[in-house]
Amino acid sequence: MSKLLRHIGWYVKQEWKTYVLMFVLLVSIALFALIPGWLLGLSIDTIISGGLTYQSLLFLGGALVAFPVIRYGLSYLYNFTTVKKSQQLAHTMRKKYLGHLFNMDSSFYEKYQKGDLISRVTGDLDSIIQSATGLLEGLVFNIGFILITLTLMMVTISWQLTLISVIIMPIGLTILNLVREGKRQYFKKHRDIYAAFTEKMLESVEGQKAIRAYVQEDIDLKKQHQEITNDIESWRYIVKFENWFNPLFEVIYGIAYTLAFAFGTYFIIQQMMSLGGLITFVTYIGMLFGPFISISGIFAQLNQATIAIDRMEEVMNHQPIVHDSSSSQAIIDFQTIDFKGVTFQYPFDKQPVIKNISFSIQKGQTIGIVGPTGAGKSTLIRQLLREFNVSKGSVLIDNTPIERFKIEDIRQLVGYVPQSHILFKLPVEENIKIGKPNASDEVVKSAVKMADFEKDLPYLQSGLQTMMGETGVNLSGGQKQRLSIARALIKDPQILILDDSLSAVDMKTERTIVQHLKDLRKGKTNIIVTHRFSAIQEADLILVLEQGEISQRGNHDSLIREDGWYKRQYITQLTGLEG
Ligand code: ADP
Repeated sequence: MSKLLRHIGWYVKQEWKTYVLMFVLLVSIALFALIPGWLLGLSIDTIISGGLTYQSLLFLGGALVAFPVIRYGLSYLYNFTTVKKSQQLAHTMRKKYLGHLFNMDSSFYEKYQKGDLISRVTGDLDSIIQSATGLLEGLVFNIGFILITLTLMMVTISWQLTLISVIIMPIGLTILNLVREGKRQYFKKHRDIYAAFTEKMLESVEGQKAIRAYVQEDIDLKKQHQEITNDIESWRYIVKFENWFNPLFEVIYGIAYTLAFAFGTYFIIQQMMSLGGLITFVTYIGMLFGPFISISGIFAQLNQATIAIDRMEEVMNHQPIVHDSSSSQAIIDFQTIDFKGVTFQYPFDKQPVIKNISFSIQKGQTIGIVGPTGAGKSTLIRQLLREFNVSKGSVLIDNTPIERFKIEDIRQLVGYVPQSHILFKLPVEENIKIGKPNASDEVVKSAVKMADFEKDLPYLQSGLQTMMGETGVNLSGGQKQRLSIARALIKDPQILILDDSLSAVDMKTERTIVQHLKDLRKGKTNIIVTHRFSAIQEADLILVLEQGEISQRGNHDSLIREDGWYKRQYITQLTGLEG
C-alpha cells in the first residue's frame, strides 16, 4: 500500500478537497446504512411492548423508506465523483507515460516490445487506478463502517455478544489473507503473459496482409489460440484460488451467525437484551459481511497494483542512454562531418554491424552509399540521427563530437527518408507537413514538385486533402516513397538522407527527382543509399560497404575502372537493363 501511496501521493495531495468530500460522503452513507437496522429493532420492541400508535407507525414506516432513498442519492454522488476523479487520474498518468516514451532512445525500443508497452499503459495502469480510487472506499470506508457498527453493537446492544460472535471474523480473514499473499507471484506471471498476448494480437493485426498472402491463417490462429490459452490459464489459476476465498469466509461467517443466535437467545432468556436488540444485532452482522469481503478484495487488488506499479515504474525510471545535458550545444548548420574509426554494435547483438568506418562529408556534397543488402548502409547513415551512441570511434561535426550537440538540433539538421514509410491517418497535405507543421502552401507545393509527387495528385480523390490511413486511400509503394521524400524536403534540411527511398519509383521518376535535388538543393548535402547506380552517377563521393566495412571509395568514373563489387554490380545492372 505504501508503494501505491508513493506512486499516486501527488494526486491525493493535489485533489485533497475532493478526497475530503468523498470521505464525508462515505461517512454519511455508512450512517444512513446503519439507521434502518436500528429502526427495525425499535419497531419490533415497540410492537412487543404494545406501544405502537398510528403516529409511531407512520414515523417508523416513513423513516424506513426515507433513509435508504437518501443513502441511494449519496451513493450516486459518491460513485459519480469517484469515476470522474479516476478518469482524470488515468488521463494524467497516461499523458505522463506517453510523454516519457517519446523521451526514450532506440536502445529502449530494442528492449521493450510494442505489446508489452501497450499492456503497461492499459492493463497495468487500469489496475493502479482501480486500487487508487478503491482505496478510500475499500479501506477507509469499510474499516470505518466496521468500527462504527461494532461500537454500536457493543454500546447499544451487548458487548459480550459482540465479542463472542464477531471476533472470529477478523481472525479468519487475516489467516485467509496470509495464504493469499503467498500467491502474489502469480499476478506478476499473469501480467507478463498478458503482455505477450497483446504483442501477438498486435503482430497478427499488423501482419494480416502478409499472413493472408502466404495462406498462414491457420498457423497464425494456432499461435493466437496458444497466447489466449496461456492468458486464460494464468487467469484461471488466480480465479480458482480467489474462488476458495469467499466460500471459506462464508463458513466463518456462518459460525458468527450461529454464535450470535445461540448466545443472543440465551441473553434474551436471561433478560440481558430484547428481541428487537437481537434482530438489530443480527442485521448488523449481516451488514458486516460486505465490508469484510471488500477489505480482503482490496488487498488482492493492492497485490495486483503493486505488481502493476513495478511494471510501470520500470519503464518510467528508465533513463535514455542518448540524452541532452545542460552543456549540449545548439547547431543549425555545419561545414564538415567526419566519421573517424566508427564501429557500431546494436544493444542486443554479439557482433558489430559496421567496423572502423572513416570518411568525410563536406557541406554541399552528394554522397552515394552502395553495397549488398545487410552490409550496414542504413546503420551507418542512421548514426547521423543520434538514435544510439557509437560503440567505438567518433562522428564529428565541425570537429566537435556529435554527442555534444542538442539531439533535437541534429535531427532538425537532417531530413531522413526511411526505407519503410509511415503514413498517419491524416490528409496527404498534413502527412507531408509533419516535416514542418507551419509550412506555407507555397513550400508544400514546391516540396511536392521536387519529390515528383505532383503528377499523382490528379489521381487522388481530393488531391492534397485526400485522407490517408485505414479509412482513406492507400498509396502505391512509389507514391508513398515520394510522399515521404516531400515530407523530408519540406523542412529544406541541411542534410537530406534518402535511405533506399527510390527503390519503388521507375527510372524516369528517379532521374527527375535526382535532377530536382541537384538544381534546387544547391549548397545543401545529400546522402543517397541506393541499389541503383543511376541515382548516384554524379555523386561527389561513393562508398561501397561490404560486411560493415568500406571496401571501395571514389566517384562513379573511378569506381567502374577499379576491380571490385562496384564494377561487377554495375555490369550486372547494365546487362540486366539491356536484356
Ligand atoms: P543495409 O542497409 O546495408 O541493408 P542494415 O544497416 O539495415 O543493412 O543492417 C545491417 C545489419 O544489422 C543486418 O544484419 C541487420 O540484421 C542488422 N540490424 C539492423 N537493424 C538492427 C537492429 N535494430 N537490431 C539489431 N540488428 C539490426
